[in-house]
Amino acid sequence: MKGDLKLTDKGFVMNERTLAIANEAILELGVPPHTVFDCLLPVYLGARKASGFPYNLIGPPVKGGDFDEVLSQVRGSDGYRKLDELSRKHGAEAGVTAETRSRRGDLDCMMYVYRGNGEALDRIDRLFREGHHGAAEDGVSDHYLEAVRETGRFLAYPACCVDAYLPEKAERLAGRDGSEKRASEQIREAGTGLSVPLIIRASYFTSWFVPCEPGCSEASRTGMSMLDALGREDPGLREIYAKGMFPSNMKEIQEMNPLPSVLANNILFMKLTEGTEAMRRNRGKRRKRR
Ligand SMILES: [Zn+2]
Repeated sequence: MKGDLKLTDKGFVMNERTLAIANEAILELGVPPHTVFDCLLPVYLGARKASGFPYNLIGPPVKGGDFDEVLSQVRGSDGYRKLDELSRKHGAEAGVTAETRSRRGDLDCMMYVYRGNGEALDRIDRLFREGHHGAAEDGVSDHYLEAVRETGRFLAYPACCVDAYLPEKAERLAGRDGSEKRASEQIREAGTGLSVPLIIRASYFTSWFVPCEPGCSEASRTGMSMLDALGREDPGLREIYAKGMFPSNMKEIQEMNPLPSVLANNILFMKLTEGTEAMRRNRGKRRKRR
């Protein structure tokens, strides 16, 4: 694909190299541009060690309640193979874990791209199997929560934020208010958009991460060092994250949107005109082939 990628409504421009990486990921995997920016680019460019996103963004629903069965379906899928290939090209790897998300025992899969520390994923996988919380009669098991804690560690989320999140996760699974409500109220106080100081925005460095408080010093440090690393590759990228991605993550949490509309909003927000156009064409083609 030729030309600069312009996030037209925001006036951001990327350099040729990072543009090529982003475009290839968008076109090859057919994932929303937001996911490429949120999860793939930071790891491919060495600005984060690991990131994760739901498997349903790159593959058809997997069936069955058995861990081995579900995981082998994912590993055998076209989406996983492409993600793995693309990740290796950038010195990273792809991985997957499954976990019980509903009381009926259905399994959901999370995809990861990461550099090193692959053995942590094996540990997380084992803990999720042992902590099959849908099967437990007396609520969420310790193994399950330990798996969530390990996942946070693997993604380099600050310990203070994970500590705040865990009991809320248990509450949420029990059908009560979870971290979404707390985080949304905190953001209502802190405000959103570019009027929020960068140091606070930086604590919302990725989607699906909830800092223990706006501007948590550990989370801010993580976000700021990510910005520095991205800026060394491409100053335009630094702008995109500081002024685009981080405020967008805050807005996401504030609105507590269910996933599909969050993604829809993000696609609208990013307006990667060429990328999304090509992705749509690509998707159309794939659908016809089936
Ligand atoms: Zn924290």
